[in-house]
Amino acid sequence: MKLQLLPSSFDENGLASEQQHLSCFVINDSVAVDAGSLAMATNSLQKKQIRDVVLTHAHLDHIAGLPLFIDDLFDILDEPIRVYATREVIEVLKRDIFNWAVYPNFLELENKKGAVLKYRAFEVEREIVIKDLTFKPIEVNHLVPSIGYVISDGKTKIALTGDTAETDEFWRVINTEKNISAILIECAFPDQLKELAQSSHHLTPKILRKEIEKYTGEQCPIYVVNIKPMYFEEVVRQIKELNIENLQILQVGKVYEWI
Ligand SMILES: [Zn+2]
Repeated sequence: MKLQLLPSSFDENGLASEQQHLSCFVINDSVAVDAGSLAMATNSLQKKQIRDVVLTHAHLDHIAGLPLFIDDLFDILDEPIRVYATREVIEVLKRDIFNWAVYPNFLELENKKGAVLKYRAFEVEREIVIKDLTFKPIEVNHLVPSIGYVISDGKTKIALTGDTAETDEFWRVINTEKNISAILIECAFPDQLKELAQSSHHLTPKILRKEIEKYTGEQCPIYVVNIKPMYFEEVVRQIKELNIENLQILQVGKVYEWI
C-alpha cells in the first residue's frame, strides 16, 4: 500500500513546505482520505485516478480542496466523485459548502456524462470497500463528529486517527486488528498549549505518549501528522524528547510504501 500526505503550504523559495496546513492523504494514487489540498497538490495521475474521497470530518482543513477538485475536473469526469462520510458530515457539506452560496451544489449539476458528485453515507465500524481497499471507520474524540480508519488492501493494513483528543475507542478497535504496518496519529499542539488542545479536542506530545501506551498490538512505525504549522518546530522537538523509538514525523509529500 502506498500513502502520500499531500503538501499544502510553501517555503520562502516557493517549494513544498514540511508544514501541514491541510489534510489530504492519497492511497495508491487513487483514493483520497480527506480533501484539504486535493485540488491543489494532486499530480496529473492522481487527478486522473482519484474518484473516491473518504472524509474523517467536515473541518475546513480536511475538505477545502473538495469543491475545487470537482470544479477543476467537472468537464472531464466520466464518473462522479464519490464522497464517503458519516451522515452528519454529509449534512454539513450540503448545508454549508455545496449550497450555492459558498459553492455550487454539484448534486444538481451534470456534465455530458452525468452526475459529478455522489454521497456515500456509512455507519461506524461497518467496513467500506473502495477498489481493492477496505476502510473500517472508528469514531474518535474531536470537537465535531470525527472518524479514524483502519485501511487494508488485504495484505497490508494501516490505521489513521484523524483529528482527535484522547480516545479509547480507536485503540480498542485497532488492538483487535492483526498485522498493522503503520499508525498515523495526530498531534496538533505543543505541551504548553494543553488547555487549547483539550478545548479543541487535539493531542499534545505528552498526551500522545499516553495514547500510544494503549496500543497492545505488534510494534510498528507510528507517524505523527497534523501538527499546527505555527507550532511545528516546538511539537517536533517535544516529540523527539519523548524518545520513543518507533515514533517519527510523517514527511509531507513523501511516498510511503508498505508491503
Ligand atoms: Zn478538526
